[in-house]
Amino acid sequence: MAEWYADVIIDISHDKVDRPFQYRIPPQLAGQVYPGVRVQVPFGKGNLVKAGYVVDLSGQTDYPVDKIKSIIAVDDKGITAQGSQIRIAYWLKRQYGSTMIAALKTVLPVKQKLRQLERKKVTRCVEGDTLLAALQLCEKKHQTAKARVLRALMTDEILPYELIRQKLNVSPATLAALEKQGCLRIEAEAYYRNPVRCVAGEEKRIVPSRAQQEIIETVVDDYRAGHPGTYLIHGVTGSGKTEVYLGIIEQMIGMGKQAIMLIPEIALTYQTLLRFYKRFGDRVSVINSSLSQGEKYDQIRRAQAGELDVIIGPRSALFTPFPNLGVIIVDEEHESSYKSESMPKYHARETAVQIAVMHRASVVLGSATPSMEAYYRAKRGEYRLFEMKARHGVSMLPRVYTIDLREELKQGNRSVFSRKLRELIGGRLQAGEQTMLFLNRRGYAGFISCRSCGHVMKCPHCDVSLSEHRGNMLLCHYCGYEEQRAAKCPVCGSRYLMGFKAGTEQIEEALHKEFPRARVLRMDADTTKSKESYEKILSAFADEKADILVGTQMIVKGHDFPNVTLVGVLAADLSLNQNDYRAGERTFQLLTQAAGRAGRGDKPGEVVFQTYQPEHYSILHAARQDYQGFYEEEIAYRELMQYPPAAHMLAVLITSRQQEQGETLGSQMTAVIRERMRFGAQTLPARSTAEGEAKAGKTWQKLQIIGPTEAAISKINDLYRHVFYLKHPDYQILVESKDLLEHFCKEKELKNQTVQYDFDPMNTY
Ligand code: ADP
Ligand code: ZN
Ligand code: ZN
Repeated sequence: MAEWYADVIIDISHDKVDRPFQYRIPPQLAGQVYPGVRVQVPFGKGNLVKAGYVVDLSGQTDYPVDKIKSIIAVDDKGITAQGSQIRIAYWLKRQYGSTMIAALKTVLPVKQKLRQLERKKVTRCVEGDTLLAALQLCEKKHQTAKARVLRALMTDEILPYELIRQKLNVSPATLAALEKQGCLRIEAEAYYRNPVRCVAGEEKRIVPSRAQQEIIETVVDDYRAGHPGTYLIHGVTGSGKTEVYLGIIEQMIGMGKQAIMLIPEIALTYQTLLRFYKRFGDRVSVINSSLSQGEKYDQIRRAQAGELDVIIGPRSALFTPFPNLGVIIVDEEHESSYKSESMPKYHARETAVQIAVMHRASVVLGSATPSMEAYYRAKRGEYRLFEMKARHGVSMLPRVYTIDLREELKQGNRSVFSRKLRELIGGRLQAGEQTMLFLNRRGYAGFISCRSCGHVMKCPHCDVSLSEHRGNMLLCHYCGYEEQRAAKCPVCGSRYLMGFKAGTEQIEEALHKEFPRARVLRMDADTTKSKESYEKILSAFADEKADILVGTQMIVKGHDFPNVTLVGVLAADLSLNQNDYRAGERTFQLLTQAAGRAGRGDKPGEVVFQTYQPEHYSILHAARQDYQGFYEEEIAYRELMQYPPAAHMLAVLITSRQQEQGETLGSQMTAVIRERMRFGAQTLPARSTAEGEAKAGKTWQKLQIIGPTEAAISKINDLYRHVFYLKHPDYQILVESKDLLEHFCKEKELKNQTVQYDFDPMNTY
């Protein structure tokens, strides 16, 4: 009979996870030992009995078989909180491919020395006219940080210190100065001993609309009935999704349950957080990147100890070990920041669903532009779909103009601004209203298109844009297809076949030339090296210190600017022609969001999309704010090409010191997969029935191998990068492929080479 072995970690914590020991699983314990279970093992020279956690299983051991010790007993008290974190880590490792240690480090909090936990609050000490006078004085002296604090205190008497620090971007020195002036009082409360409520003012309670009430009730009733589910709320910005989240969380808390609220870092605005503080007081906390490791650990400890009901944060907040998790909410679920960029490359949406299954919790997803994945599953009945159509309040949808840049060229206009956009900017300057201009260069890899007819050079096999490569070659970064760069457009014969060169800096220059008196701010990777400069530019623009803000995709998210009535997208084609299959989806989302920036206040907004492909469905549907229409066309493309979510895709990235090494490993690895396909069921490890195996064999034949080829960025830090892709409708076949490849690489004992796995990748490598 085959022996099984377990990796056991004794005294598990984030800084000690790199020491697993292997033990034999004795026959009488077979079936009871799996990742997450606590076991008793003999440890060290004296074989002292110690408790440890099983973190992994395998059919092989690196030790001599006669030397290996056996597990003594299994703790039968059920899975502990830590045990369930280990189970999640094991799932991450299997599902996304990484070492167990990397997976454990993802889910376990960083341990820190315990400190006295305290919470500070800021209380206003001056009222009415005195406060107003203080505020006016600060404004006169251009003390903008002080002014921000005073303005916030005008509406709320008491505010959490960390909210002011992080979200109003105010330094401790500024707060201390205001305290000295007598405007406010800073007080600390020891947290555990004196849990005084630090309520951020009183909330104006809103009566939920019928649509909102129906969603809240459905989610809560399903949960009470013992059928927690996954729900997707599709609703434009301002349709009242956050109100729904608040309502669901409130009911969960009423049942003694806790909630995890995921919000992308960039959308964690002061206004949003304040709503949560107002509703839930000191039972809510925030985790984000500006917290120190120690502060993060404190939040997690508070959660574990039952001191918190709600944790708000980006991706990593998902692993908060609540004792009684009731719901996980994922706002803006389409955001690419929900996908981890380091191993394990997990997606927070998928992981949320898995964690919820383990804890019998519900999952609520929300977005104005749902990801193809979420909407596809909702349409298939895996998620329950709710549509929220109407917007609350006065703001109307903006008017959109789509400008054909081919026409502009024909009319002799070679500027980066179309005539319409120029005219509208001029009007805004006269009216004293603000404009945002947006150039999306993220992930931009030199596509080539025709300026006369709009034709884009694409891969004949993958239907994605080819990238300019080593001067005069064009390359597909999925399959490696290459062709000579033509001098003339293959469709219309024009010589205007070129890449798009302008960056945000050139736009800024062009603005200075055409509108010499306009005050322009620029926001891109260069001007926002520090987190502070990012907030600074945004607050300067919010304070109307500039007429025009030029930027990359960073400027389309989060912040509300009521005086912005014009948004221009200078080259919608930049994201449309990115060399990967998500280009159309990303463009639709970006354009819809960008359009949503215009006219948030009571003035109506206008939007200009400049493009060489005005007839492209992403642009057409974004201009009409028609999600359904976009989805139908996009899903047809995904189905035709077998891209996710219609099928699944695994990217395997190889980095190596030498170029040939990477090429060789790439072909060897794809050969392993080909072999597996050829033998179909025959080489399967003991697995189900003969019939099942035949079926499995058949499905293996559906696997598609694309590449290997050089990655889009073929060299980083002197390391060569090669990539290949596997496609299959069944995710599990890809997981098994990954396991096979991992095994192959382990046997080979790779030196100076690493292999990374990325399931349903968000970007091209
Ligand atoms: P979303 O999260 O979809 O952007 P919000 O929940 O933030 O939407 O709601 C947008 C605005 O409408 C907020 O100012 C909110 O207070 C208001 N609002 C939401 N629901 C209602 C309601 N039922 N009655 C009145 N105002 C509402
Ligand atoms: Zn052409
Ligand atoms: Zn290709």
